[in-house]
Amino acid sequence: MNEQNENKNISPDFEESKSSSFFRRKGHKRFYFRKKPIQNYNNTESSLSSHFKKISIVVPLYNEEESLQPLAAEIRKALKPLNIQYEVLLIDDGSTDKSLSVIKEIARTDNRFKYISFRKNYGKSAALQVGFNNASGDVVITMDADLQDDPHEIPNLIKKLQEGFDLCSGWKKQRYDPFIKKYSSRFFNFVTRVISGIKIHDFNCGLKAYRSDVVKNIKVYGELHRYIPVLAKWQGFTVTEIVVKHHPRKYGKTKFGISRFFKGFIDLITVIFSTRYIKRPMHFFGFFGALSFFIGIIVNSYLTYLWISGQPLSNRPMLFLGILLIIVGVQFFSVGLLGEMIVHSSLSEKEYVIKDKNI
Ligand code: UDP
Ligand code: MG
Repeated sequence: MNEQNENKNISPDFEESKSSSFFRRKGHKRFYFRKKPIQNYNNTESSLSSHFKKISIVVPLYNEEESLQPLAAEIRKALKPLNIQYEVLLIDDGSTDKSLSVIKEIARTDNRFKYISFRKNYGKSAALQVGFNNASGDVVITMDADLQDDPHEIPNLIKKLQEGFDLCSGWKKQRYDPFIKKYSSRFFNFVTRVISGIKIHDFNCGLKAYRSDVVKNIKVYGELHRYIPVLAKWQGFTVTEIVVKHHPRKYGKTKFGISRFFKGFIDLITVIFSTRYIKRPMHFFGFFGALSFFIGIIVNSYLTYLWISGQPLSNRPMLFLGILLIIVGVQFFSVGLLGEMIVHSSLSEKEYVIKDKNI
């Protein structure tokens, strides 16, 4: 699908709803329409099970003891009308509160709920990856455990997959987070949007829907969960977004402070490199290597010309700059060549994401 087409589809599913919620202010001859998402559960319900057989919901959780029972109840309530088989994978990321015993209790009373518990806190990305590895549905939903994401949005997300997209991300347009977080996140999203070229507003929304192909082909580790849409897009999957409801945190506190936000940008460099250049390192190192080498050559040629015409070079710091640029250029080139050799010897068909085949 081409970029333009895709962007058209990114526009959130909103409709002016006259009947349900418009009001008129006394003294003002103006009508205010409140925007309401289309909630077409009935249609979704009937066509969902013909499209998809099973939904896997992956929930990473870290010290969320109070939220877990209400979360389980809300998921059951949201999925009941869909009439489709589902499993919920609760991934305990080394909680130190009573989360583990709560999820054990949930799993004991309802066998659609399963759990995996880490011995220590590995981070949200690790929890998601383990959830992805164990998910058996043909649709995978991820959502946070803190009741900030609304499971009633799941049918709307899946509807986008039915339209043909591989990944649909939530967009917390109306966001209930502290001021500083809201604005730092807006900046983060802006930079990621510019660098990655993916035109969505909210890269790091916990609520997302994927075709199982996507989660079986991407690797999330470190803090890369923020960049799942980027990783997916660079593997050739189509990405879109819809506006989703967001709620304030009721219990516990956020696990991601401002410091994580800065670490996130370092990860962006990893993502860009590992998605764009991992198979052709020379395009990255070769470019900078050649640039540095040639500037160095120009600088030193100029100095050589001066030397030939009789000027001494003993007091020219520029000479060192020229030498440095040439050495750095050669180094970059060598690293690029080594990278190419590694890629060459490790290439296998497994590394290409195949959409379809008949062999
Ligand atoms: N989480 C996790 N491991 C961590 C940090 C967070 O599994 O090391 C989970 C957390 O329990 C929650 C989700 O990831 O379900 C999102 O975390 P949080 O609500 O703290 O992030 P925020 O909404 O503030 O961005
Ligand atoms: Mg949260």
